[in-house]
Amino acid sequence: MDTSHYQKILLDLKHEVSGRISAIDRDIRHEGMSADWTEQASERENDEVLESLGNSSEQELSMINFALQRIEENNYFNCDECGDTIPRARLDLLPFTAHCVNCAEKSEH
Ligand SMILES: [Zn+2]
Repeated sequence: MDTSHYQKILLDLKHEVSGRISAIDRDIRHEGMSADWTEQASERENDEVLESLGNSSEQELSMINFALQRIEENNYFNCDECGDTIPRARLDLLPFTAHCVNCAEKSEH
């Protein structure tokens, strides 16, 4: 099966999410403090909002990276949990998912 289509989508998405993270990062750092921004105590209320945005973006980025790794390993179309084939329709909706519908539903409960 052709993964280059999904690889392109994932790379575009990665670019977008990375840009979002560095924008949030810059915003939180204010005066260019060098400490890891996720560990900085927030002084403004706004920082907390930015921080949770940043966290979900980080999570998204790690899912994207994992999906790209799975493409490299030729596992992209296989569920990471049960090994079943993930339907293309699902990957079109969620290109960074590593799980089939069954396993995704199981992990939500
Ligand atoms: Zn599965």
